[in-house]
Amino acid sequence: MSKIQMTTPLVEMDGDEMTRILWQMIKEHLLTPYLDLQTEYYDLGLEHRNATDDQVTVAAAEATKKYKVAVKCATITPNAARMDEYDLKEMWKSPNGTIRALLDGTVFRAPIVVKGIEPCVKNWKKPITIARHAYGDVYKNAEMIIDGPGKVELLYTKADGSTETELIHNFTGAGIIQGMHNTDESIASFARSCFAYALDIKQDLWFATKDTISKKYDHTFKDIFAEIFEAEYQDKFAAAGIEYFYTLIDDAVARVMKAEGGFIWACKNYDGDVMSDMVSSAFGSLAMMTSVLVSPEGYFEYEAAHGTVQRHYYQHLEGKETSTNSVATIFAWTGALRKRGELDNNQELMAFADRLEAATLATIESGKMTKDLALITSLENPTILNSEDFILEVAKAL
Ligand code: NAD
Repeated sequence: MSKIQMTTPLVEMDGDEMTRILWQMIKEHLLTPYLDLQTEYYDLGLEHRNATDDQVTVAAAEATKKYKVAVKCATITPNAARMDEYDLKEMWKSPNGTIRALLDGTVFRAPIVVKGIEPCVKNWKKPITIARHAYGDVYKNAEMIIDGPGKVELLYTKADGSTETELIHNFTGAGIIQGMHNTDESIASFARSCFAYALDIKQDLWFATKDTISKKYDHTFKDIFAEIFEAEYQDKFAAAGIEYFYTLIDDAVARVMKAEGGFIWACKNYDGDVMSDMVSSAFGSLAMMTSVLVSPEGYFEYEAAHGTVQRHYYQHLEGKETSTNSVATIFAWTGALRKRGELDNNQELMAFADRLEAATLATIESGKMTKDLALITSLENPTILNSEDFILEVAKAL
C-alpha cells in the first residue's frame, strides 16, 4: 500500500509527561503507517524549553505563521514544584500563553461527541464550541481596598497631559473597587478570529455581553463586533448559509440550555472562563475536549484541551499500566491534517483525517475505551483498555 503524501509540513510541537508518551504512540500506530508524515518538529518538552531559554516556543510560533497549521502536545506550565523537579533556570511562562500572544489568537474549545457518552443536558445533540477572549477585563485588573469614607474616581491622563475623570463612588464606609480595561485592537482581533473560524467550520456564531448595563465597556464589544461583521463578513456569512447572532449574556445562557448545539459561542474573558468549564463538564469529560487557536489572519494551532496528565505519567514511570485517554490528542492531529489537506487541496489527506476520527469514535461506540470514559459511559459492560491498547484498537478499526 502506498502512503498518502503531504506537500507541506505541519508544525509539530511535542510536549510533556503522559501526553508525550501518547504522542509517540499515535504517530507510530495511527499516522506513519498510512501517511508520509511531513512535520517541522519543535520539542516543547520542558527540558528542551529550559535548554533553549524558551526560544524553541518562539520559534514554533514563528513557524506556525509560516506554514499556517500546527499541532501541539500538552506541555507543563512551570510552577514552584517544577522548578526543582526539572532544575529550571527560570519559571518559564506557559507555552500556550506565549504562542497565543505571538499569533494574537483566540482559543476555540469543542467537545468530541460520541454515542455512549451523553451530555447531561439532554437536548445538546451537537457540540457547542466556546471561544474565549483571552485578553484583559478582570484578568488584568487593578483593585483597591477602600478602608473608610472618601471619594473614588477614574482618572484618565491623556498623552497631551489633559485629564478626564469619572466618579466611581462616594464611600461613606469601607468597601472595594476594581479597574478593568480592554483595547479596541484586542477586541477586533477576537472578533475577526471568531468570524473567520465560524466561516471555517460553517457554524453560526453567537456573541453576548451585558451592554444594557455596561453602556460603554460592554457596548464597545458589541459595536466592534457589529462593525467588523457588516464591513467584512456579512456577505461571506450569507454565502456560507450561517448567521451572526448577538444577544444579552443572560438571554444567551437561557437559550444555550435549550439549544441543540452546533454553534460557536463567543464569550468575553470571564464568561468564557466560566462557560467553558460548564460546557466541558456537561458534555462528559475534559479528556474529550479539543482546542484550536485561531489567529485573525487564519493560522491554526490544534491541541487537546487537557494537560499532561501528570498523575498517570508518574504511574507510567513506576512501570505501572496506565489507561490514559488519547482521543483529544488524536483529534488534534486529525484537525491539523484536515486543515493542511484543505490548504494544499489534498483530498486524500482530508479523507484520512475523517477516517481516523471515525475509527476512533467507532472504537468507543463498540464498547472499547479508556478507564475515564468507562466510568461515565451509558454503554453496558465496557472493555477498559490501557493507553496503548486503545490506540491499537483504533488502528484496527482504521
Ligand atoms: P490535566 O488535564 O493534565 O489532568 C487533570 C485530571 O483530569 C487528571 O488527573 C485526570 O484525572 C483527568 N484527565 C485529563 N486528561 C485526561 C486524559 N487524557 N485521560 C484520562 N484522564 C485525564 O491537568 P493538571 O493535572 O491540572 O495539569 C498537569 C500538567 O498539565 C500541569 O503541569 C499543567 O501545567 C499542564 N497543563 C497543560 C495544558 C496545555 O498544554 N494545554 C493545559 C492544562 C494543564
